[in-house]
Amino acid sequence: MRDNHLHTHFSYDSDASFEDYLKDYSGEIVTTEHYDLSNPYTKQDDVPDYEAYSKEIAELNRKYDNRIKRGIEIGYYQPREADILSFLADKDYDLKLLSVHHNGVNDYLDDEVADMDKEAVIQEYLDKLEYAIGRVEADVLAHFDYGFRLFDVTVDELKTYEPQLIRIFQKMIDHNLAFELNSKSMYLYGHEHLYRYALGLVQSLGCHKYSIGSDGHKLEHFRLKFDRIQEILEENGIGEEEII
Ligand SMILES: [Zn+2]
Ligand SMILES: [Zn+2]
Repeated sequence: MRDNHLHTHFSYDSDASFEDYLKDYSGEIVTTEHYDLSNPYTKQDDVPDYEAYSKEIAELNRKYDNRIKRGIEIGYYQPREADILSFLADKDYDLKLLSVHHNGVNDYLDDEVADMDKEAVIQEYLDKLEYAIGRVEADVLAHFDYGFRLFDVTVDELKTYEPQLIRIFQKMIDHNLAFELNSKSMYLYGHEHLYRYALGLVQSLGCHKYSIGSDGHKLEHFRLKFDRIQEILEENGIGEEEII
């Protein structure tokens, strides 16, 4: 089971090197570097340097037996859609994650979001997520709970959005995106219960495509709690052939 959500220094918020991960783990790695236009957190366009990224990976792949794949985490932001599509048009990635990280004013992890109205934030985020699916080509719907990571949300509270969650997950399936189990959301933000609930929903909709990612920005979080996630997959009867 590969860690399909991982960052290095090619992401604006990570200092990790490829070798941190390669020396710790003998299998394949893929990094999914942040691509976030109009990022309110950094007040700039954060774009991973494709040339430098490809060059460093090619060099390391000679030394490390081709164990590195190329990836990107596309932060979808509607007002910049044309720029996103134009950036991606001439790039070749092995794995593309689709994310919604911000609304143009706040990243959903900004401290001030924690003091905002929970229901309003969740509603706004889910609307943006629902819209984003299918607007750019991708392989994985990343951290479905990103917009409310900062909040304690019970399953009953999340269930009030169930009709919309069903629409979102159906759209995800229709666009052949994998559902991501994000171990940072589950175990660092305490949302395991929400992922178990969402897993039930996506399974009931006939999802057969899953992706497991730590969302690690440093070695400490690489493959975080993958043993626990393996148990959850087994409990839910999700086989290896369903994991990308
Ligand atoms: Zn993300
Ligand atoms: Zn990420």
